[in-house]
Amino acid sequence: MPRQREVLVLNASWESLNRVSLHRALTYLVGERAEIVDRVPGRTIRAAGTHWPVPTIVRLVRYVRVQVTRRPVRCTRKGVLRRDGFRCAFCGRSGADTIDHVLPRSRGGHSGWLNLVAACRPCNSRKADRTPAEAGMRLLTAPRVPASYQVGWVQLTVEETHRLRRAQEQLLN
Ligand SMILES: [Zn+2]
Repeated sequence: MPRQREVLVLNASWESLNRVSLHRALTYLVGERAEIVDRVPGRTIRAAGTHWPVPTIVRLVRYVRVQVTRRPVRCTRKGVLRRDGFRCAFCGRSGADTIDHVLPRSRGGHSGWLNLVAACRPCNSRKADRTPAEAGMRLLTAPRVPASYQVGWVQLTVEETHRLRRAQEQLLN
């Protein structure tokens, strides 16, 4: 089992909110602000004079309204990759880790949400300093300005998805 670093926090509605340190998650539990959804089997940790299961996923007891700001979200490289789900905008493969200026910078293309897409390295170097049309490539999705929550909320890992589904199934039984 990989060393546990962070605990996934769910809203009371079961949506993923963020990840926090184990220490922070324990303060939620001690303060009765959250309950354990999933834990590391057979392990406990001491906090506030009691032994607690070591949580991997906790759920807030009270629903937290997530602020969706109207303010434009600042465009960052990581934000573009997240918006596009780390999928290459040209070939659709996952694991894209570069960003491409749709209209190249040399032609006055700006570095904003509407001109940046996630791209895999082969597509990025194939397109080079050309427009998609010039390179004979097509954008699978149009670049867009994301709502802030799409950038801020956490994507569940495969392991977390599995753990969460198991916990929900246990609740139903
Ligand atoms: Zn690609």
